Amino acid sequence: MPAKTHLFMCLNDNYGVLVHDTATGATAAIDAPEAAPIEAALRAAGWKLSDILVTHHHGDHTGGIAELKKKHRCRVVAPQGEANKIPLVDETVREGDTVTVGKLSAKVIETPGHTLGHITFWFEADKLAFAGDTLFSIGCGRVSEGTPEMMWDSLSKLRKLPDDTRVYCGHEYTLSNIKFAQTVEPGNATLSARAKEAAAQIAAGKPTIPTTIAQEKAANVFLRADDPAVAAAVGLAGKPAAQVFAEVRARKNRF
Ligand SMILES: [Zn+2]
Repeated sequence: MPAKTHLFMCLNDNYGVLVHDTATGATAAIDAPEAAPIEAALRAAGWKLSDILVTHHHGDHTGGIAELKKKHRCRVVAPQGEANKIPLVDETVREGDTVTVGKLSAKVIETPGHTLGHITFWFEADKLAFAGDTLFSIGCGRVSEGTPEMMWDSLSKLRKLPDDTRVYCGHEYTLSNIKFAQTVEPGNATLSARAKEAAAQIAAGKPTIPTTIAQEKAANVFLRADDPAVAAAVGLAGKPAAQVFAEVRARKNRF
């Protein structure tokens, strides 16, 4: 049976999401920004928390773990590379490992750059990816701990996922990401269409995610640093993709 998902806001602009296996009743929270909205989402859905799958150590992704674990005695799965910075970890995972939530199964993809140990959970059969703060809709996370090269490699890995993979990310940043992307690519028609769609979603009080790999490949400037048009747009025609990515990311930091 396919996975069910439930998406909701936490803190200011963080997303919380639950993944539920109807066959067994198992339910995972992807990250735990804060306990109360996750508890409310569990109550609303009538689900019981069995697991917390952590993408990276930042406090706005882990702040709710202690309270949730105390109440639900759920398993906490975290990236091996930064488990020592995450509370109450039961199991650590790394590249290629499989994590099960009931009968659902996720592959672990290491996506360092935002943090050095950041991971993405890819539920291949369900066509779902939980990318934390690596890939955003029309954006990507800040390169806080790694290097631009590392982040570009991570985004390149995510870009290889099937086009119809639905991608959930850690924050609602889509409108500001689009505003920035249009400064680099004012002529990108897919981006213009996405701008209209996202503005309508936000105006209606709806989330702009999940996005899809296909949509991001078409309109996300950070995923297209190897596109000659993007290189030319930032004055780096013919330069390596990682260098183009670094320039685009630096411009976003100043935006
Ligand atoms: Zn983060």
